[in-house]
Amino acid sequence: MARRPAALFASRSSWFDLGVFGVGLAMVAYYSVVLVSDGPSAGWLFVLTVPLVAVIARFPVVLDRADGGIEVGFESAILMFLLCTVTPQEALVLWSLSVTVSQLSTARRAMAKLFNIGIGVLGAAVAATVFTWIRGPGPSGARPGSELIAVAVAAACYFTTDFVLSAVSVALETSTRVQEHLLQRGTLFAVAAFVPFDSLGYLGAVLSRRPPWWTLLLLAVPLGLLLFATRASTRGAENARRLSVLFDAAVRAQTLSDTRQVVDAVVDDVRRLLRMTQVEVRATPPGANELGAQLHDGQRDRWIVAPARHRARSTTTADEQALKAMVAVSSDAFSRLRMTEDMTHLARHDLLTNLPNRGLLLDRVEHALAMSRRRGTRIAFLFVDLDGFKPVNDRFGHAAGDAVLVDVARRLSDCVRQSDTVARLGGDEFALLLEDVNVTDVASACDRILASLGRGAQVAGHQLSLSASIGVAFGDSGETADSMLRNSDLAMYEAKSRGKNQYVEYERAIGRSRLQRLELVESLRASVSAGDLSLVYQPIVRVSTGRITGVEALARWRSNGVDVPPDVFIRIAEDTGLVVALGDVVLAHAARDAPAILAASGGDVNVSVNVSAKQMREPDFVAKIERVLALMGGAGLVLEITERDSIANDTASLKAMQTLSDRGVPFAIDDFGIGFSTIGYLQQMPVRIIKSDLSFSEGIDRDERSCALLCSITMMGQALGLDVVVEGIERASQLEHLRDHVHAPYAQGYLLHRPMPLDQLLTVLADNRAVANPVVAGAPRT
Ligand code: C2E
Ligand code: MG
Ligand code: MG
Repeated sequence: MARRPAALFASRSSWFDLGVFGVGLAMVAYYSVVLVSDGPSAGWLFVLTVPLVAVIARFPVVLDRADGGIEVGFESAILMFLLCTVTPQEALVLWSLSVTVSQLSTARRAMAKLFNIGIGVLGAAVAATVFTWIRGPGPSGARPGSELIAVAVAAACYFTTDFVLSAVSVALETSTRVQEHLLQRGTLFAVAAFVPFDSLGYLGAVLSRRPPWWTLLLLAVPLGLLLFATRASTRGAENARRLSVLFDAAVRAQTLSDTRQVVDAVVDDVRRLLRMTQVEVRATPPGANELGAQLHDGQRDRWIVAPARHRARSTTTADEQALKAMVAVSSDAFSRLRMTEDMTHLARHDLLTNLPNRGLLLDRVEHALAMSRRRGTRIAFLFVDLDGFKPVNDRFGHAAGDAVLVDVARRLSDCVRQSDTVARLGGDEFALLLEDVNVTDVASACDRILASLGRGAQVAGHQLSLSASIGVAFGDSGETADSMLRNSDLAMYEAKSRGKNQYVEYERAIGRSRLQRLELVESLRASVSAGDLSLVYQPIVRVSTGRITGVEALARWRSNGVDVPPDVFIRIAEDTGLVVALGDVVLAHAARDAPAILAASGGDVNVSVNVSAKQMREPDFVAKIERVLALMGGAGLVLEITERDSIANDTASLKAMQTLSDRGVPFAIDDFGIGFSTIGYLQQMPVRIIKSDLSFSEGIDRDERSCALLCSITMMGQALGLDVVVEGIERASQLEHLRDHVHAPYAQGYLLHRPMPLDQLLTVLADNRAVANPVVAGAPRT
């Protein structure tokens, strides 16, 4: 008997289905009346047929179509048995009863059950009519063979009635053509299997006529085998179909671009996979009579759930496995999406602070500019650069520096609204996009930022003072994201040059002065690469004798005929990284001049060269210095590193220092006393000389405390076994104090000698050698 799967039942074909049931019901009523008047002959058959029909009905052949299918059951073999054994009326009543019981025991919906009962009865009525007509009134009067032919034709008629009515119902429901459902893959197989299978009923009837009756039981063997073979073929076909659904789903999953799409696809695919429409995604796990699997979308707990039903095509276990396989496919898609999301996030955010990066910020600024123009509002771009942050890394290490930057990022975010954007541009540079603001809003945001940073930070147990220079640019007409970035950058530099720890709003004049600085950078770059720098030398003198014991090489640069102060161009060189190349030029010039200096001094003078921490971090620094030494013709080389460039935690620089120090190149700490030096710092580094900063000698002749301070610096240096050079001696009274109170061994300053070109230095050296006591005898040399 053919049945439509319950899930496909819908209202469009309901009238047809009800009609089929109605006609069937009427027929059963009619035959029951006839039967009651004739008197039933074989009531015992009821015990046999009802359970047999129910069992056989569980093993149908399933004819597939993508949108559903028809199940063809072989229970009509029992109908054939009944037709051969009892009267047609009795056979029909017993059969109708069996079909009703069998249908009611399934999990189908009510309308499906009614329809299936209806077609069972109608098909049986057609089969009984044809059977009686071919065979004649009863088994006893039948010609040999005619009963078998009657069974075969009746089975064919039963199948046809049943199959055609089912096809019409499916066609009505799906608004398709009946032919499509009649002629489908498997129809021929069903017809070919159906008629021979039904003749098993005839065989049973023949066996039952001759005692002993139990020979009938032998039929159970071929019957059982056939039913199991049918089930195996149905499930095999279903498994193959499921594999192809899974394969398609896996291929499609690679093309989905968001989580919503993946969830929709998995619901759709599970519906196709299990042939069930009642599939849903929800937050709760499956309950009783449900099966489900958890979706791993990485966001929240979600389950995909379907009804648990034992069906001809599959078992609940098979359904569960299929569901899990589908969820595994979706998990792959989810993790691919997550990976893409992570990568997009990484590409658009700063790794350390997780703030948006420059690219994302500029996109947002572009968007905000467009919005502000439409709404008639204003946006502001704040360029925030921390003041003096670089030494933090050098002194406390990169991990501590990073922690400060993360802290700064958090404070900046706290200073503005949630809708504003805080981004990290790199290093110690941050930027903020403030939307829908006026000048007062921006001023108070800047004040909040400066106040928040002004609280300082704790680094490795030290209280570090923090401040920032902020450049502000407003997004007025004609501005683009790039121009706002550039203008706020220029304003930030202006804030730095006005003394840091403040904010400056961009105006055109700032742009011009910045442009001049840029020109200066380019000009310095060109001079450095052409080696177009000069050196002057400033002697270093032994205080007690006035003898020149060393000379310090100081770089000089002229740009467009104007002398640029060393503080200015050295700062530019530091900021732009040009200082490495500049240092190479200075070292080369010093090496070239050294033999002449040595000769003029009579063979006992060192040449000091200033080097920057950036130079010392270069991997070939040691090799470079060794090459310079080789060219110096035996003159001693001293390397001065400024205390501001703290290198105490910089292992590469320390290693280079140690190597060179081991080879006899002494290091001097320049500008000592104003930077990061501690006594521990001095012990840690291979230093031979300290040069006290100019500021310490400034007031030694006027103020006792200044003098005492310089005294203690000198004593401390000497106690550590270091040579001490006091810089900035400009007046005779300073020199007196130095000699009489401070007792510093060496001095450097305008009073003694100004920095001078090489030729002048050579004369001064020669004179110095010739005079017995140069300082006592001599007036200040210029
Ligand atoms: P520094 O190494 O401490 O050099 C001493 C500075 O003090 C020189 O300034 C010198 O002219 C100045 N000076 C000397 N005696 C007196 C004095 O009695 N009174 C006053 N007020 N100043 C005095 P300069 O040449 O302007 O150099 C400034 C700084 O630029 C240097 O300070 C040094 O840190 C840096 N510098 C100069 N040449 C180089 C170089 O070749 N490489 C590097 N990395 N830095 C350099
Ligand atoms: Mg120096
Ligand atoms: Mg100095």
